[in-house]
Amino acid sequence: MTAEEYDNFPQEIKNIVNSYDDNESLYKECARIKLELESIGWTCDYDLSGEVYDVKPESYTTCDRCSYDIKDEDGDILEHYCIDDELYIPNQINK
Ligand SMILES: [Zn+2]
Repeated sequence: MTAEEYDNFPQEIKNIVNSYDDNESLYKECARIKLELESIGWTCDYDLSGEVYDVKPESYTTCDRCSYDIKDEDGDILEHYCIDDELYIPNQINK
Protein backbone atom coordinates (compact mmCIF):
# COMPACT_ATOMS: atom_id res chain seq x y z
CA MET A 1 0.00 0.00 0.00
CA THR A 2 1.15 3.57 -0.52
CA ALA A 3 1.88 6.05 2.24
CA GLU A 4 -0.99 8.14 0.94
CA GLU A 5 -3.44 5.28 1.27
CA TYR A 6 -2.16 4.62 4.72
CA ASP A 7 -2.64 8.22 5.78
CA ASN A 8 -6.31 8.01 4.88
CA PHE A 9 -7.02 4.98 7.03
CA PRO A 10 -8.98 5.39 10.25
CA GLN A 11 -6.81 4.99 13.31
CA GLU A 12 -8.14 1.52 14.12
CA ILE A 13 -7.08 0.34 10.68
CA LYS A 14 -3.64 1.83 11.13
CA ASN A 15 -3.36 0.05 14.44
CA ILE A 16 -4.06 -3.30 12.82
CA VAL A 17 -1.71 -2.67 9.92
CA ASN A 18 0.95 -1.47 12.34
CA SER A 19 0.62 -4.66 14.37
CA TYR A 20 2.41 -6.46 11.56
CA ASP A 21 5.22 -8.41 13.16
CA ASP A 22 8.28 -9.05 11.00
CA ASN A 23 9.45 -11.72 13.39
CA GLU A 24 6.47 -13.93 12.67
CA SER A 25 5.78 -15.93 9.55
CA LEU A 26 4.99 -13.23 7.01
CA TYR A 27 2.22 -15.19 5.42
CA LYS A 28 0.66 -15.95 8.79
CA GLU A 29 0.84 -12.31 9.77
CA CYS A 30 -0.95 -11.32 6.58
CA ALA A 31 -3.68 -13.86 7.26
CA ARG A 32 -4.05 -12.57 10.81
CA ILE A 33 -4.25 -8.95 9.68
CA LYS A 34 -6.85 -9.82 7.09
CA LEU A 35 -8.91 -11.58 9.76
CA GLU A 36 -8.66 -8.63 12.10
CA LEU A 37 -9.66 -6.25 9.36
CA GLU A 38 -12.62 -8.43 8.47
CA SER A 39 -13.77 -8.48 12.06
CA ILE A 40 -14.42 -4.76 11.77
CA GLY A 41 -15.80 -4.76 8.24
CA TRP A 42 -12.62 -4.15 6.29
CA THR A 43 -10.58 -6.45 4.15
CA CYS A 44 -7.25 -6.65 2.34
CA ASP A 45 -5.27 -8.78 -0.01
CA TYR A 46 -1.76 -10.04 0.41
CA ASP A 47 0.77 -11.88 -1.64
CA LEU A 48 3.20 -14.65 -0.89
CA SER A 49 6.00 -12.24 -0.12
CA GLY A 50 4.02 -10.94 2.85
CA GLU A 51 2.98 -7.69 1.24
CA VAL A 52 -0.42 -6.45 2.39
CA TYR A 53 -2.28 -4.37 -0.16
CA ASP A 54 -5.74 -3.31 -1.22
CA VAL A 55 -6.79 -2.49 2.32
CA LYS A 56 -10.33 -1.19 2.06
CA PRO A 57 -13.78 -1.38 3.59
CA GLU A 58 -15.45 -4.63 2.72
CA SER A 59 -18.37 -4.09 0.39
CA TYR A 60 -21.24 -6.18 1.55
CA THR A 61 -22.50 -8.96 -0.66
CA THR A 62 -25.85 -9.71 0.88
CA CYS A 63 -29.06 -7.70 1.12
CA ASP A 64 -29.14 -5.57 4.24
CA ARG A 65 -32.77 -6.53 4.81
CA CYS A 66 -33.12 -10.23 3.96
CA SER A 67 -29.52 -11.47 3.59
CA TYR A 68 -30.21 -12.46 0.00
CA ASP A 69 -26.99 -12.99 -1.90
CA ILE A 70 -27.07 -9.90 -4.08
CA LYS A 71 -23.90 -10.10 -6.08
CA ASP A 72 -23.53 -12.02 -9.29
CA GLU A 73 -20.29 -13.49 -10.55
CA ASP A 74 -19.17 -10.15 -11.92
CA GLY A 75 -19.76 -8.44 -8.61
CA ASP A 76 -22.82 -6.61 -9.86
CA ILE A 77 -25.68 -5.92 -7.50
CA LEU A 78 -28.82 -7.88 -8.31
CA GLU A 79 -32.32 -6.66 -7.69
CA HIS A 80 -34.57 -9.19 -6.01
CA TYR A 81 -37.91 -9.61 -4.36
CA CYS A 82 -37.25 -8.88 -0.74
CA ILE A 83 -39.00 -9.87 2.48
CA ASP A 84 -41.99 -7.64 1.74
CA ASP A 85 -42.37 -8.94 -1.85
CA GLU A 86 -41.22 -5.60 -3.21
CA LEU A 87 -38.56 -5.48 -5.87
CA TYR A 88 -35.61 -4.13 -4.00
CA ILE A 89 -32.18 -3.02 -5.14
CA PRO A 90 -29.85 -2.57 -2.21
CA ASN A 91 -27.59 0.44 -2.37
CA GLN A 92 -24.03 -0.50 -2.97
CA ILE A 93 -21.95 1.09 -0.31
CA ASN A 94 -18.21 1.52 -0.57
CA LYS A 95 -18.40 1.83 -4.30
ZN1 LIG B 1 -33.58 -8.30 0.38
